[in-house]
Amino acid sequence: MTARSGADPKQTIHVVGGGLAGSEAAWQIAARGLPVILHEMRPVRMTEAHQTEQLAELVCSNSFRSDDAVTNAVGLLHAEMRLCRSLIMQAADGNKVPAGGALAVDRVGFSAAVHAAIETHPLIEIRRQEISDLPSDGWENVIVATGPLTSAPLADAIRALTGEESLAFFDAIAPIVHRDTIDMNVAWFQSRYDKEGPGGTGADYINCPLTREQYETFVAALLAGDKTEFREWETNTPYFDGCLPVEVMAERGPETLRYGPMKPVGLTNPRDPQTKPYAVVQLRQDNRLGTLYNIVGFQTKLKHAEQVRIFRTIPGLAHADFARLGGLHRNTFLNSPKLLDDRLRLRAQPRLRFAGQMTGCEGYVESAAIGLLAGLFAVADAKEISISPPPATTALGALLGHITGGHIETIDAGPRSFQPMNINFGLFPPLASAPISADGKRLRGPEKALAKKHALTSRALVDLKRWIDERDRHDVAA
Ligand SMILES: Cc1cc2nc3c(=O)[nH]c(=O)nc-3n(C[C@H](O)[C@H](O)[C@H](O)COP(=O)(O)OP(=O)(O)OC[C@H]3O[C@@H](n4cnc5c(N)ncnc54)[C@H](O)[C@@H]3O)c2cc1C
Repeated sequence: MTARSGADPKQTIHVVGGGLAGSEAAWQIAARGLPVILHEMRPVRMTEAHQTEQLAELVCSNSFRSDDAVTNAVGLLHAEMRLCRSLIMQAADGNKVPAGGALAVDRVGFSAAVHAAIETHPLIEIRRQEISDLPSDGWENVIVATGPLTSAPLADAIRALTGEESLAFFDAIAPIVHRDTIDMNVAWFQSRYDKEGPGGTGADYINCPLTREQYETFVAALLAGDKTEFREWETNTPYFDGCLPVEVMAERGPETLRYGPMKPVGLTNPRDPQTKPYAVVQLRQDNRLGTLYNIVGFQTKLKHAEQVRIFRTIPGLAHADFARLGGLHRNTFLNSPKLLDDRLRLRAQPRLRFAGQMTGCEGYVESAAIGLLAGLFAVADAKEISISPPPATTALGALLGHITGGHIETIDAGPRSFQPMNINFGLFPPLASAPISADGKRLRGPEKALAKKHALTSRALVDLKRWIDERDRHDVAA
């Protein structure tokens, strides 16, 4: 029986929001034979950042970050999601663009692939509608994955139900430039340290070099540039630390950008190999055709005209034509450790489960990962089987643990300490014993750090495979 032909309403799972998390959740549910109705408000109602009606649209960068599953936590999360047959990872792998050690995608091809897989699945029905109130009692198994830009009426209803103000922070978007307007007599292709990465060549980024004088003038222009004004209620809202606007980084000190997105290390200007640039602006391929490039780490709240004026002072970008300019958006999330149980259900109304960025994870990959888990948990509830959350030693488990079991308030009742976080090794339980060298010696320094990462990632994959086998056994028995 399909969702389209009127499935048993008790078995049907409603997913609200067809972004990264909602699409992944719907896919995981349908893959286990249950019908899904996916409610997506675009294009009937758009958000401030989405520009298309496609499912799983990437609102800003086209990067899924590092794909190194051995020494990087987000690379490990990719690997774990692939083991769980993630649709988001399948679509990302099928739409890779060169990006050194990172997994970057053609944003149009990526969302088209997710969209097509969902739209043609016989168990999934897509309804283009805004859910503007809490889902009715008739919906017994619901995943709310409406993201950081949840429409206002639903956000208000959730706030009223949870009885507290949502937490919030700012997320910003970086500009995208037409490749043929970048002056390649000034800029050059090279990945940092010539790193090849997945599908890369070692020369995947466009690099624009700045002298000391140019850098200082640029930083001064950022500081003086005309910025979007905050409304009063916004002034107390923090930025997400991994996504600070360039001008905010510049405010933190004259050298901050040179140690951040403009760091000149691992790059050699072929036209002047003896002189190290003082700073470098990097652009990363944004679409498969290679016609668009985004400025890496240049999310900004500068006014649009100011962005054009100031970014054209970067050597190589004097005649840059912008396909999209940067912007800033308020990003709300739940106080999940308090409100959600360890299966992402709202304690006050367990038929409502939350997924994606609104649970307080940060990033495309993390949002999709939580969507994946929410889908699996919703299936377990519908089939009345019990599955344990993934072990805390896995990236999926560590992320879930941060969200549902994370620190809730500081001891002295000061400000809440639950903040959105990208997956990182700090969220994993420590190793039982320190790694040692092949000949049994204690390791030190970078060698020790590397061995520790190796041990954490191999432990994670062993534990995740065991968890998947156990879950599959329950699923078959149900
Ligand atoms: C401005 C901005 C820039 C960001 N930049 C990056 C970045 O560069 N890299 C990164 O990794 N992460 C970035 N993020 C963070 C985050 O990872 C993404 O927002 C990600 O898309 C979150 O996934 P999600 O599924 O939770 O939400 P989304 O992908 O936003 O999906 C939510 C969906 O719900 C729909 N919806 C909303 N309200 C309703 C409703 N009432 N009824 C029905 N449908 C509804 C929306 O239309 C949308 O399709 C950014 C976030 C913002 C806001």
